[in-house]
Amino acid sequence: MTYDAIVVGGGPGGSTTAWRLATAGRRPLVLDAAVFPRVKICAGWVTPAALADVEIDPAKYPLTIQPFTACRLAFEGARHETRWAGAASYGILRREFDHYLLERAAAAGADVRCGVRVTGVSVTTRAARVATDRGEFEAPVVIGAGGHRCPVAAALGEISSREEVVVAQESETQLAPADAAALARFMDAPELYVEPDLRGYGWYFPKGDWVNVGIGVTGGTDGSLPQRREALLSALRASGRLPAHVPIAPFKGHAYVVRRQAPRRLAGPRFCLVGDAAGLARDLSGEGIGPAIRSGRLAADAVLAWLHEGVALDGYAREIERLYGRGEPGWIGRRLARIPDAVARTVVRLVLGAGVARRRIVFDAIFGMKEAAS
Ligand SMILES: Cc1cc2nc3c(=O)[nH]c(=O)nc-3n(C[C@H](O)[C@H](O)[C@H](O)COP(=O)(O)OP(=O)(O)OC[C@H]3O[C@@H](n4cnc5c(N)ncnc54)[C@H](O)[C@@H]3O)c2cc1C
Repeated sequence: MTYDAIVVGGGPGGSTTAWRLATAGRRPLVLDAAVFPRVKICAGWVTPAALADVEIDPAKYPLTIQPFTACRLAFEGARHETRWAGAASYGILRREFDHYLLERAAAAGADVRCGVRVTGVSVTTRAARVATDRGEFEAPVVIGAGGHRCPVAAALGEISSREEVVVAQESETQLAPADAAALARFMDAPELYVEPDLRGYGWYFPKGDWVNVGIGVTGGTDGSLPQRREALLSALRASGRLPAHVPIAPFKGHAYVVRRQAPRRLAGPRFCLVGDAAGLARDLSGEGIGPAIRSGRLAADAVLAWLHEGVALDGYAREIERLYGRGEPGWIGRRLARIPDAVARTVVRLVLGAGVARRRIVFDAIFGMKEAAS
C-alpha cells in the first residue's frame, strides 16, 4: 500500500489533518498507539471556532455536548459571572469527540491503524520513514500529531530544554441521575478557580450528566499539585458542588507543553508538527483542542500544496507563527511576568471584577471565546 502522508497520532490534530487530506483525494495513513475510543485527560472545553474549524454543527453533533452561555471565575473568595446571548463555548467528552473525528477521517478514506506505536522517525531526500512495533512505513511526508510526547517532534522538532510544561490532574465522573438533578444549579456553566499565586487554575466543568474537576499549573514539577488539588476539592465539597456522598473518579495526571519560551522547529523537508506536538496550547488558558484542529487544517493544506506544486512546507511554520507567535509568552503573560506578585494579584482582581475587562481580556483574549460573545 502506498500513502501520500503518514500522520502520527489520531487526536484532534492528527484526525483533522488526515480528514482534510482524504477529502482532497489523498491517501493518508494514521498511526496511533492507543485503541479508540481512548481516554484522553482533558476538561473537554471547546470553542465555537474549534467546532467551526472541524465543521461540526453543535446542534447536529450526535454525542455528548453541552452549550455554555455563562462562565464563572473565582479568585480570592470572590466569584464573578459572565453571560453571553448565545453559546460561547461547549463541553464535550474527549473519548467520544476524538473517536468521532477519527472515524470521520477513516470514512473519508484515511487508513487508520490503532494500537500501533511509533518508535522512530527519519527523513531522507527521498521519503519519510516511520518505524513502529508493527513494522516500517514510508511516505513522501510525515505529520507529527502525537501530542506532548510525539516521536516526530522528538526526532525532528529540535525541542529546547527551556520549554515550559503544564502539569495537570483531572477527574471525570458520570453522576447518578439523582445527584445530577440535585447539582443542576451548579451545572449550567463552567467554573474556574484561579490559583492564589496565579500559576494556574482549577475547574469545575459540567457536560450533560458528567462533571470534570481538575487543576493545572505551570512549573508544576515542584510537587505542589496534590496540595492544590486537595484545596480545590475542599472548596468544591464545602460549597455543595461536590457533596461528600458523591464519589468521583480517581484523579489522573498529565503534562503538556504550552506555547512559551522556546520555539520548536514546526516544519522542514518532509515533515510538519501540529497541535501539542508543536506546543500550540494557549499559554494562559491551556486551551489546546482548537489550536490542534486549526494547525491540522493548515498542515493538510500545506501538504497538499507541496504534493501538488512543490510549495515548501516552511510556509506552514510561518503561518503558525503568525497565528500563535514564535513560542514566546504572549503580551499578557509578558506583562504579568514582569510585575511583582502582589501587583499582579491586584491587576487580576481588578480585571476579574470588571465585567467588560473580564469578557475582553479573560474570555476573548485568553480563552478564545471571542467568536460567539455578544
Ligand atoms: C488536564 C488537561 C485538561 C485539558 N483541558 C482542555 C480543555 O478543556 N480544552 C482544550 O482545548 N484543551 C485542553 N487541554 C489540552 C488538550 O487536551 C490538548 O492540547 C489536545 O489534546 C491536543 O491535541 P493533539 O491532537 O495535538 O494531541 P492528543 O490529543 O494528545 O493526541 C495525540 C495522540 O498521539 C498518540 N501517540 C502519542 N505517542 C504516540 C506514538 N509513539 N505512536 C503512536 N501514537 C502516539 C496518542 O495515543 C494520542 O491519541 C487539556 C490538557 C490537560 C492535560
